[in-house]
Parts: sequence; structure tokens; C-alpha cells
Amino acid sequence: MDDLSVVHVAVPGPAFDSFDYLRPPSSSTTNPPLRLGTRVLVGFGDRRVVGMIVGGGQRSRVPAKRLRPVLKVLDTEPILDRRDLELLQWVSRYYHYPLGEVVKAALPTRLRQGNEAAIAGTPVWRISPDGHDVPLESLRRAPRQAALLALLKTHPDGLDAAQISATVSNWRQPLARLLEKRLVEETSRPCLEAAHAASIPAPNLNAYQTAAVDSMLDALGRFTPFVLEGVTGSGKTEVYLKLIEQALLASRQALVLVPEIALTPQLIARFRARFSVPLAVMHSALSDGERHCAWHMARVGAAPIVIGTRSAVFTPLAAPGVFVVDEEHDSSFKQQEGFRYHARDVAVFRARLLGIPVILGSATPSLETLYNVQRGRYRRVRLPERARRAGAPTLEVVDVRRCAMDNGLSSYVLTQVQQHLKAGDQVLVFLNRRGYAPLLLCHDCGWAASCARCDAKLTLHAAKGRLCCHHCGAERPVNVECSSCGSTALLRIGEGTERIEQALKKAFPDVSIVRIDRDSTRRKGDLQKKLTDIEGGAHRLLIGTQMLSKGHDFPNVTLAVILNIDHSLYSSDFRAAERAAQLIVQVAGRAGRGDRPGKVILQTHRPDQLLLNNLVEGGYEVFSRMALKERRLAGLPPYRHLALLRAEATRQEASLNFLRGAQALLSANAASGVSILGPAPAPMERRAGRYRFQLLLSAQYRTKLQRLLDNCIPSVGTLPSARSVRWTLDVDPIEML
Ligand code: ADP
Ligand code: ZN
Ligand code: ZN
Repeated sequence: MDDLSVVHVAVPGPAFDSFDYLRPPSSSTTNPPLRLGTRVLVGFGDRRVVGMIVGGGQRSRVPAKRLRPVLKVLDTEPILDRRDLELLQWVSRYYHYPLGEVVKAALPTRLRQGNEAAIAGTPVWRISPDGHDVPLESLRRAPRQAALLALLKTHPDGLDAAQISATVSNWRQPLARLLEKRLVEETSRPCLEAAHAASIPAPNLNAYQTAAVDSMLDALGRFTPFVLEGVTGSGKTEVYLKLIEQALLASRQALVLVPEIALTPQLIARFRARFSVPLAVMHSALSDGERHCAWHMARVGAAPIVIGTRSAVFTPLAAPGVFVVDEEHDSSFKQQEGFRYHARDVAVFRARLLGIPVILGSATPSLETLYNVQRGRYRRVRLPERARRAGAPTLEVVDVRRCAMDNGLSSYVLTQVQQHLKAGDQVLVFLNRRGYAPLLLCHDCGWAASCARCDAKLTLHAAKGRLCCHHCGAERPVNVECSSCGSTALLRIGEGTERIEQALKKAFPDVSIVRIDRDSTRRKGDLQKKLTDIEGGAHRLLIGTQMLSKGHDFPNVTLAVILNIDHSLYSSDFRAAERAAQLIVQVAGRAGRGDRPGKVILQTHRPDQLLLNNLVEGGYEVFSRMALKERRLAGLPPYRHLALLRAEATRQEASLNFLRGAQALLSANAASGVSILGPAPAPMERRAGRYRFQLLLSAQYRTKLQRLLDNCIPSVGTLPSARSVRWTLDVDPIEML
């Protein structure tokens, strides 16, 4: 490729455009050529920043004498190819987010900082032939050297620093001595290693799975979006595995997106057991070095399989073959702050760009996805049966109106729990609210403990004795008396997981109970340990939030109880019903996966609710059809497209002023068919001490909405009132908060 004379460089920051720079004077001798997709160090204002060459040519739009030269070319070869750049440019345009920031989000931290892109291996130390021969007794006087040597003797392939640290402390010095004596030698290993296992053979696929794989294989090599729909346990993962195996045989890579890595160790374990190839796992808990390594291995094609959470969708791939988005309905694919992209949608766009198939898997596809199926844009493939038959779980709605309740649990539910425990099974109790009680209320005057910075009540966390705001993180000690009238008659209203745990402990004192929520799994490893214990049968009663509804299978759970589903039925968010239905089906999918069928109980005060009835009687299929119809009648997504312009500031007026200005700008430019609503207060007007307002844009045709945003968003950003607010644009928002 040509060496460019003028390059367009995307730099981090608020500017939507790239900036032009000249070829450095000494280009040919000391600097590699300027090519698209290489990083450069440039002067920007009075700073030096790492930028990415996203375009270029022989001359600039700006007079040459006003251009500065590139200070340094950081890559000898491009680290992003044309299609990677095209993807990032599209994403920047579609979400109206500055290109430099999009590029930044797509690169591992180390590369943003300008470090070398290629990554060497991890140093490992292994025993030398001399080391093998020397008897350990000869190191009696140096016990740590002896311990280290003994350890390395049992690991002929060598160990890295982390592995040694796990067994021997203060080992650097003794290691240096052993290296001097040539009893140990240093080598390195590639930063990602092939899994060894490959021990578990694939099952023979059933007829549905075979048909699914066949139709997908047909599409290898061209863009085809598939929706793989099947309940938990219907064998979707086996379909992914088979398809990926074929892609690998054709020397192509697979990219698999999952909602949350911490919740999917079982999935990763299955990949490792099936394929003896390096697996690049990418998620937010990686160290900078690990992330860089995984990214590099994916880019050069050394990792044939990449599994990761939403940001992994930007990972460059040497030979992309197939994309999988598992649990495509999951809202964690949408980034909810800053750069608000939806990884599923980006994956579909990228697959189109690359001309490869993309599989969206779910037991409960999102209404957007089902709408795309209806319109013939996506191909639906169904797995109607559980692969290992246990039959579908039964769904029972329990009307608790006027029933006696003990801490939020009806006596029917308690009896049912008891029966299943008595039969030796596990029981799961699901409740989407952590803490002890969501409201602390004065019985004498009606005062309630509220957050000083948000329009929200504080949740009582009994175990740590604090009142916590779930919106801004503020907390304080629990009141002994009412802040308003001084009464000590304070009531704890409503139930969170802590309270349910306590109530169940009292009801079933001999049963081991485990609670899984954000509070009980704060430390690294907590969640993993609890899940392993559950699997091993150490706990019989499982209580948890939605952490329990995702990813993990609990084969010995025969009863799942869903509490407080009513909460979401009363929500003002138009997606609440869809989310509730997905949650119910997902929780139901966790129960009875072994050879016994499961039972799901929904405890509700609204047994007449249409959503519930549709779901119970017709399953997700009937529910989603009804829900789509409602959306169409109400003029809501997926039938209309939305964008939400949000602003927040410590002064109410500042937010409002900015949005009024934006509103004027947008209305002046709006074509017919685009409606602009607001400015209106956000559902939670004050959060963390800031007043929040929003402007809702909607249109039947995406292109109209996009054109308006193209024309106006840059000017919105330069409004004088923009300086006193924090504002963001959310294209295709999934929550209105
Ligand atoms: P899903 O991803 O839809 O939840 P899985 O692929 O995890 O379903 O399959 C559920 C269980 O059934 C797994 O334990 C899997 O190994 C097993 N399984 C899947 N397909 C088959 C098959 N064709 N024959 C036997 N067991 C299967
Ligand atoms: Zn009071
Ligand atoms: Zn708060």
C-alpha cells in the first residue's frame, strides 16, 4: 500500500472529525510508511496523543503550512484493516460518537498508550537437564531453592510467575540463584496456549440440531443472520460448537459474544473441552497484559476462537468465519454510558461487512429480533425440544391476594418448597431486588428514608447495617429514629434477597441456604465458589437475583419460585413486560434440567395480567406476538426508531436550557415523519445530585432520524449551553431512565 503524504488521524476527544497531519520529514529512513490502520503519535494542542490513521491522500483540505507533521509512526504494519476501520467509522456515524473515542474503545489499553502491538510470550522457567540430575538434598541449606526446584521438577513444561507465586513465596531470589547454577532455564511461551482437553466427544446431534447446522453451513461465506431459538437445554450450544468446528476446519475464526463472562464459566469450559486450540477470552476483568495478549492473538489469527463480552465485538480478526451472539436478548450487550452501542447490532453489521453468517441465539429473542424475522431479514431456526428430555417445566401462577404472607412468602409457596426439599431436590427462589427491604418507613408520621442526592428511597441492608441508594451508591447508617418526628416505630417495608434468606432460614433451619446477588459475591472468586458448591450439592436452597437466571444450569433444581414479578408489571418502561417474560422463561429454564421435570411458581397480586396469561398459556411465542402487536399499535420500537438526547446538570435550568436549544435546532431541521418530544424530566429526575432531562426523537424510518442527527448533533455539541451540562445521545435506547 502507498505511503501517504497527508493522513487523516482520529484522536481521542470530542471532535467528530479526524485531523490532518503531514508525513514526517524523515519518513523514509527512520519511520515506517504511513498506512491506514497504523497508530501515530501526533501533537494535538499542546499535548502529544496516540491517534489512528483512518484515511489519507496526497493533499489536505487544510493549507499545508498549517499542518503539523506526524511525530512518530508507532506500528510497522497496520493493526486494523480496511474493514475494521470501516466498521469503526460506521459505528461512529450510527451512534454519533466521536471516531477517536470509538477507536479508543476498540483498542486494548496498552495500545491506546502507544505500546508495541505485537506481544512477546510470557516468561516461564523450567528445570534444566542438570537440574533433573541434582538431588534435592544437596540444597538442604537453601530450602526455598529446594522448594522451587521440587516444584519445577513436577512441571516439566515450566511455570510462569503467577503459577510459581501460587505455591512458593519470595521466589525471585532463589530463582536467580538456580538460574546462575544452570539448574533452571528461562524460556517463554506464547501468551495464549491451546487448551489440552479435547477429551469430550460431541454428542450426535438430533434431527433439529442437524437441520439447524446444515442450513447454517450452507451460509458459511456469505452474510446471513440466523435466529437460533430454543429453550435452555434444547442444544443451541451444541449447534454453535458444530458450526464453529466447521469454520475452524476451513481455517476461519469464530467470534462468540456472551452477556457476562462471570456467569458463563460452563460455556467456556465446554469450548475448552471440545477444541484443542488457543481460546482468546475477552472481558472486563482481564489485566491490561492479558487483554493485549488475547487481542493480539485474535488479530494475527493465532486464536481461532474468541469468546468475549460486548466490547469483544470490535476485536480484529485475521480470518473471520462466523459470529455467534448467545442470549441475544440480554440487555448487557448494550453499553449504558458514554459510547452507547449495542454489541448485537454491531455484530450483525460487522457480519454484513465481512460477508459471514451471524447466529443470534436465545430462548427468548428480543422483540426487535423477532420483528426482523417477520420482515424476512433474519432467518429463524428453531430447536423445539430439550436435547436431554426432561419435559418442559410447568408454570403455575399463584394468586396471593388476601393470602397470609410471611415476609413476602405465601404459605402455599412455603409448603411447595418444603415438599421439594423433602424429596431431596434443590429449590431456587428468585427475587430481583437485593438488600433486606426497599423502604424504611415511619409508622407514626409517614416519613421514609430517602437519598439526599436522588429522587429515590434508600434500601435497607440489614447485614451491614446501612441504608444504601441503589442509584448513586450513597450509604449511611440505619436510622434508629425517624428523622422527621423522632419516633422509633420504623417499619421495614417490602422484601429483598436478604430478608427472604432470613425468612427461609427460619422456616427451614436444617437446610443449607446460599444467596447469590451482588452483595454476596463482591470478592473475586465468591461467585465461582458458590456456583461450584451448588453444583456439588452443598446447598439445597438457592436465593438470588438475576445473576441466577443467566448462563448457569442447576440440574437438581426441581422448583423455581419467582417473587415480586408484579414490580415490573407496574413499571413505566415500555420494555418491562418483555423483560419480565424473558426473565420468567430464563428462570424456568434453570429448573429440572436433569431427568426430572421442573416446576415454576409465579407469586403475584395480578393473576389477571395479560402478560402472565399469554405467557403461561401460550409460552413466549404467543406472548411475543401479542407484545409486538401492542408495540405496533402504540407506535413503539421496533415499529419506530428512537433516539434519546439526555442532559444532566447540578442546576435544573442548565439542563432545560440546553435541551430547549437542542430542540429548536432539531425542529428547524426536522423532516416530516420525525417527532420530537420534550424536553421532559427523566423518569428519575434527580440522580447523584444532578437534574436530568431528555428529548425523545422518534421516526418510522431510521434513515430520516439518522439524517436529522447527522445534520444537527455536531451543532448541538457546540451550543453555548452545552458547556454547563453533561449530555449524551442514545441511539436505540433500551432504557428510558
Ligand atoms: P442450550 O445451549 O440450548 O441451553 P445445550 O447445547 O447446552 O443447550 O444442551 C443442553 C444439554 O444437552 C447439554 O448438557 C448438552 O451437552 C446436551 N446435549 C445437547 N445436544 C445433545 C445431543 N444431540 N445429544 C445428547 N446430548 C445433547
Ligand atoms: Zn416519623
Ligand atoms: Zn442516590
